Amino acid sequence: MGFRVMRMGHRPQRDKRVTTHVALVARALGADGIFVDAADAVLEESVRSVVDRFGGDFEIETGVGWREAIRRTGCATVHLTMYGQRVDDALGKIPRGGDLLIMVGAEKVPPEVYRAADFNVSVGNQPHSEIAALAIFLDRYTGGAALYADRGGRMKVIPNERGKTVES
Ligand code: SAM
Repeated sequence: MGFRVMRMGHRPQRDKRVTTHVALVARALGADGIFVDAADAVLEESVRSVVDRFGGDFEIETGVGWREAIRRTGCATVHLTMYGQRVDDALGKIPRGGDLLIMVGAEKVPPEVYRAADFNVSVGNQPHSEIAALAIFLDRYTGGAALYADRGGRMKVIPNERGKTVES
């Protein structure tokens, strides 16, 4: 049982930073991995470098479209969209026993995604950001369970009220 993120509409030049942050938020909040639709070796490299230093088993695969991600995971799907049902109404309906694929867009998301998703879920009905929507959804879905989990990494941050403490 776990969850993965599907990042749709990635444009390697324009979205490098945003998609990197989508991946890092997914990892920090406990996802097993992320699929990104456009092939992007540079993005893969930068996310793997974080995993290499900070630990865990988070996987990134680029060049995987949303239909393929749904087919391969075969699990329930949540599409985060400002047009969806309220997150607090949706949470009780989303199955907990199995895997979950959480899909986020970039610019315009094709109508087929709205039809294919098991749940179209909004984090407020105002337009904001895939990074914020993913973070808020995952925090509510997991209750923040992964935030301080030990990832067994070469580098480990020790909470510090004033400065930076990093064990390596
Ligand atoms: N109007 C666009 C659309 O077709 O949905 C919004 C694009 S927005 C810049 C990029 C992504 O952020 C969306 O595809 C969605 O995944 C996420 N997003 C933005 N606002 C959201 C909200 N209020 N609730 C849930 N997801 C949101």
